[in-house]
Amino acid sequence: MARYNDAVCRLCRREGTKLFLKGDRCFTPKCGVERRSYPPGQHGQGRSRFSDYGVQLREKQKVRRMYGLLEKQFERTMDRASSMKGRAGENLLVLLERRLDNVVFRLGFATSRAEARQLVKHGHFHVNGRKATIPSMLVRPGDVVVLREKSQKVERISAALEALEGKSVPQWLDIDKTNFAGSVKALPVREDITMPIQENLIVELYSR
Ligand code: SF4
Repeated sequence: MARYNDAVCRLCRREGTKLFLKGDRCFTPKCGVERRSYPPGQHGQGRSRFSDYGVQLREKQKVRRMYGLLEKQFERTMDRASSMKGRAGENLLVLLERRLDNVVFRLGFATSRAEARQLVKHGHFHVNGRKATIPSMLVRPGDVVVLREKSQKVERISAALEALEGKSVPQWLDIDKTNFAGSVKALPVREDITMPIQENLIVELYSR
């Protein structure tokens, strides 16, 4: 499947905020947003004024890029969120959080969602005892995500777990670092998603 292969820091600069797409580098002064806090391109430093549509579009692009989804995937997720009970915007965020690649990232096995996605695709994880290679798979309460025994020696995974020392995972997840296992305690709720997201703008965009 096609993926975005250009410089990812441009995406953060376009959205005017850190999307944390590059792992550790995002926390250093080398971060693209820290160094050049204006949109990329020839006219990046010109005045920019957004229409209502523009504001909604930027919010959607921000969230889509944050979770690393292509346009069609995001649209399908939005359709599913709209057909569920409750608020479509909140449903959307919960569906995005439940993706296996996001869960691997949140559990601390990877430093970014892109890295987590690659680890999942390369078959490093088992979910409930079975190999899981589909990053978009949605986890459920009670699911157990375990790093394969062979993969426990992969340096970048152990480094990511070490970096987690002292930090906590979201309250709907649990991590057992000794056994390289994470579990899903409950479904995430809106309050668990702390990034600044205005999901109502995304809903408005898709209801046009
Ligand atoms: Fe975004 Fe990270 Fe690049 Fe900073 S370093 S611009 S947060 S991807």
